[in-house]
Amino acid sequence: MNGKRASLPSPAKGLRVLILGGTREARELAETAGREPGFEVVSSLAGRVRAPVLPAGPVRVGGFGGTDGLRTWLSDNGIQVLVDATHPFAATMTEHATAAGASLGLPVVHLRRAGWREAPGDRWLRVPDLAAAAETVARTGTRIFLTIGRQGVGAFAHLSGRWFLIRAIDPPSGPCPPDHEMLLARGPFTVADEARLLADRRIDVLVTKDSGGELTAAKLTAARERHIPVVMVDRPPLPAGALTVETAGAAWDWLRAQA
Ligand code: NAP
Repeated sequence: MNGKRASLPSPAKGLRVLILGGTREARELAETAGREPGFEVVSSLAGRVRAPVLPAGPVRVGGFGGTDGLRTWLSDNGIQVLVDATHPFAATMTEHATAAGASLGLPVVHLRRAGWREAPGDRWLRVPDLAAAAETVARTGTRIFLTIGRQGVGAFAHLSGRWFLIRAIDPPSGPCPPDHEMLLARGPFTVADEARLLADRRIDVLVTKDSGGELTAAKLTAARERHIPVVMVDRPPLPAGALTVETAGAAWDWLRAQA
């Protein structure tokens, strides 16, 4: 379903929940909560990906129009509880959810999968943001595997004299480094496939955001096995005092407690 209004039935038959999605955990929660009689769940996607994996149940697509737009949408649709299950790097949506939820007095929980942990044999260079990642790769490698998704590739666009393998689900809309190969693919990926890719393209440094999760972790194992350094972009911080859970199961426990 597209548009600003979701077709939630009225009068309410259960706790009205909005899940801000775009992650596997958001889909898991929508699946679980959506089949429970005491809950009316709608999921929201930004609409960035051309062919998104859709959650179960009602879905609305597109931005709300900032914090004010979100607040209006929440009121108009009688939402009682807000779950921010956006990607750990979707900091703007998280900020808007926190502000809109607070101004309406809604309970808000942030569902954030755990970040990746360094293992013996890893050579990770942690950096605070994409600009720092670009500075670090410029010093570290010449054949760079950029796995940061579609957004943010522009931070590397000025790096000439280096070759990039850029992997994303959809092509980046902004500028790209001059010398690159574009690989459009959606995980999960296997360690064997990732290792083959690193070898075939003679990659000497990998760049990733600390997204966490199993779906895209194989590249880290492959890099470890091949002794390739990883430039790991740290997550933006959550708003102060944000209530956070790490799994869809924990978010579901929280939702049931709200009901
Ligand atoms: P962002 O920078 O935090 O948000 C930018 C704007 O996009 C928001 O202000 C909002 O527009 C809209 N938006 C974001 N998430 C939305 C949602 N779930 N439903 C409706 N509108 C949403 O977000 P982003 O980093 O561009 O990520 C966009 C979406 O992709 C998110 O749903 C996120 O979970 C998913 N995703 C992001 C990444 C990543 O690396 N950032 C990776 C995988 C998936 P308005 O201000 O108009 O409301």
